[in-house]
Amino acid sequence: MITEFFKPATIEEALQLKSTYPEALYMAGGSWINSSRSATDPEVVISLSGLGLNFIHQEGAFLSIGATTTLQDIADHSLTPDFLRTCLKQFRNRNIRNQATLAGMIATKNPAFSSLTALIAANAEVETPSQKITVEDYITTPQDGLISTILIPLNPRVCARKHSVTARGVSLVSVAAGFSDQGIRLVVAQDGGKIERLKDFEKKFDASMPKDRDNLSNQIKNAVVSFDDYRTSGAFKKYIAGVMLADCLIQAAEGV
Ligand SMILES: Cc1cc2nc3c(=O)[nH]c(=O)nc-3n(C[C@H](O)[C@H](O)[C@H](O)COP(=O)(O)OP(=O)(O)OC[C@H]3O[C@@H](n4cnc5c(N)ncnc54)[C@H](O)[C@@H]3O)c2cc1C
Repeated sequence: MITEFFKPATIEEALQLKSTYPEALYMAGGSWINSSRSATDPEVVISLSGLGLNFIHQEGAFLSIGATTTLQDIADHSLTPDFLRTCLKQFRNRNIRNQATLAGMIATKNPAFSSLTALIAANAEVETPSQKITVEDYITTPQDGLISTILIPLNPRVCARKHSVTARGVSLVSVAAGFSDQGIRLVVAQDGGKIERLKDFEKKFDASMPKDRDNLSNQIKNAVVSFDDYRTSGAFKKYIAGVMLADCLIQAAEGV
């Protein structure tokens, strides 16, 4: 039960509160920390709503999104790249999109939240008070710094797909492929497992490879490690990851 609720007016104040109360949780939209599914039960909460982080604007080749901007505002913004808008529109409903934030989603590091694979494939970045790092590094290493801004490349060649029990449910498996000057990025996430890049397959892939979906999908399937759970078998998750990622790879290679 929340017994202490702080609403700092500056990032410095928020950081000071966090060092005074290390067990406190930052709260953006609160959709996850207040959900029974998150299994969090914070006593001390530091709200981010007074920090002036509700903005979206272009910053060079990036879309700069403040940490308290809601998913609905991002989905509605004219500059939001299509791959991200599509991911957000697959969300369960508008009520959650009106509350939840992308920074909160990144901070959960939850592999069932399919937009995360797309953000990693796009090589998106986050800014914290002490550093600018990729979303991939924030998620896959023990980072928990206060995210102030998310930077999303404006014209990425990214394609993302998810498999879920219901069309708008959280994903059992999500995949994304992204092409940029730095090369290709292939990402797979499995609910109950992890979010990871298929780095060995990325190295093997070359743009002149035959774009035969069955062949690609078989190779990807063999590169994915999975596990059985109560909803579906590991074999099926490998298969569906292969099919979806082969589709994405072909689309992204063609310049979606
Ligand atoms: C009913 C329901 C349905 C959902 N459906 C979907 C769905 O269909 N698809 C999907 O992908 N996801 C879904 N989600 C998950 C949703 O994406 C997350 O709950 C949401 O994005 C978290 O954002 P928030 O702002 O509410 O985070 P909060 O609940 O405020 O915080 C979540 C975590 O992030 C930390 N945090 C928040 N902001 C920051 C920050 N700026 N810096 C550092 N740490 C921070 C908090 O301390 C906490 O640990 C659903 C959630 C719910 C409750």
